Amino acid sequence: MIAVATNPEHRAAASEFFELFKTAWEFYRSGEEYDAVICCGIIPSDIRASLVLVYASSELSFDRQHQLQVLQQDHSRELPSYRRWRLPVYAGLASIICNGKRHDAIAGKTKYSIATEIKVGEQFFIRIGYDLFAEVRHLLFNGQPAQFAQVPVIEIHITIVRNILVEHQIPFEEVPPVPAGYNFIVCLTHDVDHFAIRNHKCDHTMLGFLYRASIGSMCELLRGRKSLRQVARNWLAILSLPLIYLRILPDFWSKLERYLELDRASTFFIVPKKGEAGTTASGARLARRAVRYDLSQLQARLSEILARRGEIGVHGIDAWRDTAEARKEREQIQALTHTSEVGVRMHWLFFDSESAGKLDEAGFLYDSTVGYNETVGYRAGTTQAFRPFGTKRLLELPLHIMDTALFYPTHLNLSPKQAMMRVNDMVDDMRQFGGLLMVNWHDRSIAPERLWDDFYADLVGKLESEGGWFCTATEAAQWFRRRREVTFGISGSEAALASTRSEAGLPGLRIRSYDGEQRSQPCAAKDRPTDPSFSEVLLDGAKEVARAI
Ligand SMILES: [Zn+2]
Repeated sequence: MIAVATNPEHRAAASEFFELFKTAWEFYRSGEEYDAVICCGIIPSDIRASLVLVYASSELSFDRQHQLQVLQQDHSRELPSYRRWRLPVYAGLASIICNGKRHDAIAGKTKYSIATEIKVGEQFFIRIGYDLFAEVRHLLFNGQPAQFAQVPVIEIHITIVRNILVEHQIPFEEVPPVPAGYNFIVCLTHDVDHFAIRNHKCDHTMLGFLYRASIGSMCELLRGRKSLRQVARNWLAILSLPLIYLRILPDFWSKLERYLELDRASTFFIVPKKGEAGTTASGARLARRAVRYDLSQLQARLSEILARRGEIGVHGIDAWRDTAEARKEREQIQALTHTSEVGVRMHWLFFDSESAGKLDEAGFLYDSTVGYNETVGYRAGTTQAFRPFGTKRLLELPLHIMDTALFYPTHLNLSPKQAMMRVNDMVDDMRQFGGLLMVNWHDRSIAPERLWDDFYADLVGKLESEGGWFCTATEAAQWFRRRREVTFGISGSEAALASTRSEAGLPGLRIRSYDGEQRSQPCAAKDRPTDPSFSEVLLDGAKEVARAI
């Protein structure tokens, strides 16, 4: 068993960290014997454990006692690294200098190590120069800046703890965020911001469309960003506009059915209120945020969406800042879908520090707003669904990849090839760490003038070939909830099995066991760290399949 000794202010972050790691643990109880104790900020004097991880960015009496020198580093400049990853640190960083053995796994740019291992009697202490749970709190509550968007920091923190436990032959079990039979989870979602070009006449949306479809397309052709065929499609789209307004031709922005064909499971976020812009945090009203469609326009599509493994969620306008409005927006969509549970993503990703609490109180199952408008990556530093601090039931399914972030000239402005390289890196992360890749491809993005449909089809094919489980956002939330419900008893996996209820249609869970013995590595791999070996049991509802990895 692993124990955590920390200050009261870190307890919530420690609890959530272990929901993401999902291994057996408890808060430190004096006098108990443990396999390992993780200390963050405090060190109990009477620890009975062979391994003690000591996290702190400031000097502790422990450091003075063992002649460790703690040298503060500027964490905005100094970036430790772990294996192939850079590890941004946000809440304080120190180099730990001692005459003993350096723990070279976590290194700083300077000659100093961020972690040091010392042996005191029969106990191993690993002293690490940052506060693990302060970092977790910062990432899940404040998020990380766009410059470090590509680093799934929390997964790296979990990997560091796991690897230290394995190196020290501590036996433990974990339930990784990897569904049985797959390598990771994929949610293909679509914010419905326009629905029909027919809704737009002489407004900024139409003028922007005309400019980008005509002159913009030609410029993109010259830059190699669009093909001649795509330019022709855009010009034809412009010419077809009168017939679309006369309802002779179908509206080329009404593409929801096409997504149902491309996706294996789709989630559409729909704005419940036509013509309402809502307000910003400062109270300003940005008229362009209002949408021009109303729910009656989508009515005919809804039964088809729901029948073809599609889900409807709320694309919130005011829900992020007002609980009563959040409740109203939820009820408007649920009156349409007649579903017992519904999730939400804010239009333009409006969100603040109190939004999660308000959405939780308003009865949403999940939120999927925590992401970037300007880039792709891990705003909360994780590939996983998590429970925002202060909420009782809501799960946050962070948004990772958004079409406009990849391609808009004001954002990343990538070519399709560059964008696919960026996506490939994130798929590599998913294969490495598991978790949920949340994609948002807007309703009009596979239509003129954007024509990001070929890229999207390639992306879906890539995610399928890499072993993604495609599901709706509600299914993803249910899967993560089921994983959170697993509790570990004295007999480990048996207790976990007992607490895992079978849920129709959801893939099972995996239980990985590290038996506390270091397996021998092939000679060629001796010089470089390899992933620890484990055995795995798959829990697929009532069916249990054991296999050795
Ligand atoms: Zn939107």
